[in-house]
Amino acid sequence: MDTPSFDIRPTITPTATNVRDEILSAPGFGQYFTDHMAHVRWTADGGWHGAELRPYGPLTFDPASPVLHYAQEIFEGLKAYRHGDGSVWCFRPERNAARFRQSADRLALPRLDDATFIESLRVLVEKDAAWVPTPQDASEECSLYLRPFMIANGKFLGVKPATEVDYYLIASPAASYFKGAGKPVSIWLSAHYNRAAPGGTGFAKTGGNYASSLVAQQEAIDHGCDQVAFLDAAENKWVEELGGMNLFFVYRDGRLVTPALTGTILEGVTRDSVLTLAPELGLTPEERAISIDEWRDGVASGEIVEVFACGTAAVITSIGQLVTENETIESPAGNEISQRLRTHLLDIQYGRAADTHDWLTQL
Ligand code: PMP
Repeated sequence: MDTPSFDIRPTITPTATNVRDEILSAPGFGQYFTDHMAHVRWTADGGWHGAELRPYGPLTFDPASPVLHYAQEIFEGLKAYRHGDGSVWCFRPERNAARFRQSADRLALPRLDDATFIESLRVLVEKDAAWVPTPQDASEECSLYLRPFMIANGKFLGVKPATEVDYYLIASPAASYFKGAGKPVSIWLSAHYNRAAPGGTGFAKTGGNYASSLVAQQEAIDHGCDQVAFLDAAENKWVEELGGMNLFFVYRDGRLVTPALTGTILEGVTRDSVLTLAPELGLTPEERAISIDEWRDGVASGEIVEVFACGTAAVITSIGQLVTENETIESPAGNEISQRLRTHLLDIQYGRAADTHDWLTQL
């Protein structure tokens, strides 16, 4: 498919400048949305067509639309960053485009080609450029969060892949994900709920994975923790990931260990970037299984010197403690490595460090 040119249909009621400025001064996360959204339609007989940029607004669905019943949907999450010279850039969007295709395959949805995915980011960010926040200094991690998603549409209740599908892209100005960015977070270990099973949808970015994680996340909150960590479904022994972030363990001897991609965890773009940057910081990356016992014993013996989580929304976040039903495992006090990785990654994303891996795409 050639890259479609998007039909631009601007809103006639754009947000007033003073209202937008007030939102941008304290955007939170995922609460406010820009004036436009991108849309492309797919039908089994017509393929992808009708690419448009249109005013942001409610969607209308038939009550028998399959996404509402069987959750045939996928999504992505990435950010647009404003650099010091005012230009706006995306970080490794081709990785999100590729993951979107992998998710589509798993959910029996049509693949959206990478060029259309990236063009949708470009047209929306170009039109709503005024919504991309400008960081005042390096400590301010504001950005425009981009949320592409694809849903099964139509009108039928049979359990089968949809023949009508819609792709949308919406955008939301964002401040730091956790209050007090860079501060250690506490993690609740889910003993009763697993996130994904072998052969399931763990590697796909699909709503069902998140719907089923909510009760465990609620358990985390009830125990005074910020996020939930999941173990593997087969043995309840191997550390997988958090509800929305991948995990890393820094060893005293310079090894940087993260759970291997077995099909049950999401292949994070940040995870891959950390693995790539690790040798530049003198670390030896290792992708392998790590058990909850290794976590506990490694922290106790001092062999593990840092534990951190990573993802687009919160970048890199130190883990202060792991709370289980029986015990609290205090993480080692150190956060030097995770802070160095965090600063390095942010400096690349905001154009303050050389983009030696060619990770940035100007929008
Ligand atoms: N795991 C899960 C379950 C996630 O939802 C996310 C966020 N997309 C991540 C890991 C981190 O992925 P990324 O670095 O691509 O944001």
